[in-house]
Amino acid sequence: MMKVMKKWMKFIPLATLLVAPIAESQAAESRISILYTNAARDRNGGDPQIRSRLRTRIQVTNRTSRQSRANFSLRVSRTRRIGYNERGLTLLGNLNDLRGGGSTQNESSLRNDALREERDRRSDLVSVITTERGGGGVSNAVGWANTPGFYSATNADFLGNSQNMPHELGHNFNGAHDQAHRLSDGLHTVMWASLQSRWTQHYSNPNIRRSGIVTGTNSRNNAARMRGRDQTNANRF
Ligand SMILES: [Zn+2]
Repeated sequence: MMKVMKKWMKFIPLATLLVAPIAESQAAESRISILYTNAARDRNGGDPQIRSRLRTRIQVTNRTSRQSRANFSLRVSRTRRIGYNERGLTLLGNLNDLRGGGSTQNESSLRNDALREERDRRSDLVSVITTERGGGGVSNAVGWANTPGFYSATNADFLGNSQNMPHELGHNFNGAHDQAHRLSDGLHTVMWASLQSRWTQHYSNPNIRRSGIVTGTNSRNNAARMRGRDQTNANRF
């Protein structure tokens, strides 16, 4: 979950850590299907525009993983516009529908769309883009995802230039919020839970520095949480 919060927060001193080298290894590849609604398309100016933005968001996610040595990568198996119409529900409702645990259960069109992507396209992850917000008592949430898990729901207004999708997909790979750790005043990692203007394309890793600043701590180490968490649906069907 990511919340919108623009106010400055107090500077938190960085921990000092020794840097140890980590062996490079081949990133595990997961296939992702991205589904978006008509309203999401309209918010982004058309099909070519939203598709281009989604492509870029996946590239940013992969770059973030690579720079952080989180050791996962995504390949888009399909990007598809779907017939689901926003009904004044929430992103959390969307996520529950994707999982088949929503109020409408298996009758949900989102669940049917997700199953089609998983079975027919062999996709490991399914992400849906809608214009809905919030849920679960957090009215301003702009994304929800399983941690870890296969599904995410993100708001269509945050595809242009934000960490929203890399953040939600990071949850799918077991990423946790880095709330107690920020790189410097106003600069934060992708798993910081609030959208802000200054972010660096890193998941926290105490062994990686960005502009001389260590990007994680022993307790804020999303790269370690994510490594080996390649999501695959190979055994699900
Ligand atoms: Zn989050």
